[in-house]
Amino acid sequence: MSERTLAIIKPDAVAKHVIGDIIQRYEGAGLNPIAMKMVRLSKKSAEGFYAVHSERPFFNDLTTYMASGSVVLLVLEGENAIAKNRDLMGATDPKKADTGTIRAAHGASIEANAVHGSDAIETANFEIGYFFPEFE
Ligand code: ADP
Ligand code: MG
Repeated sequence: MSERTLAIIKPDAVAKHVIGDIIQRYEGAGLNPIAMKMVRLSKKSAEGFYAVHSERPFFNDLTTYMASGSVVLLVLEGENAIAKNRDLMGATDPKKADTGTIRAAHGASIEANAVHGSDAIETANFEIGYFFPEFE
């Protein structure tokens, strides 16, 4: 089934100049960008995006990090886009991510792990609408 998912190229990956490599991986896997923008998130905007994690001990560090530099926001479309992107990303902790995944290649730490990807249809809908209200 064709789906849409939200991806973020996080500040660590932007700083490492691997935007192009990551987008090439999406396109190579059949995840077609249908919307894209580069922005610097405010701390408030990062907090709203990660509201589901607001009770986690790492929430303040995570949202500070997400607002620490530019990010690239993308809507990706393709067959099974949500699960496919999660496979392409690899595990949250880059040390545990399978070889060949984006996080294994580019992630620096469990926090600065190169990319975000929606994890379910409901979260994809919320996340796409959060950054691309015109897609709702
Ligand atoms: P994922 O991004 O793989 O879906 P989560 O939704 O669990 O992972 O966490 C959201 C983000 O919070 C992670 O991508 C990572 O940047 C950060 N994070 C997750 N777990 C930790 C942790 N234990 N310590 C610091 N940051 C974390
Ligand atoms: Mg998640």
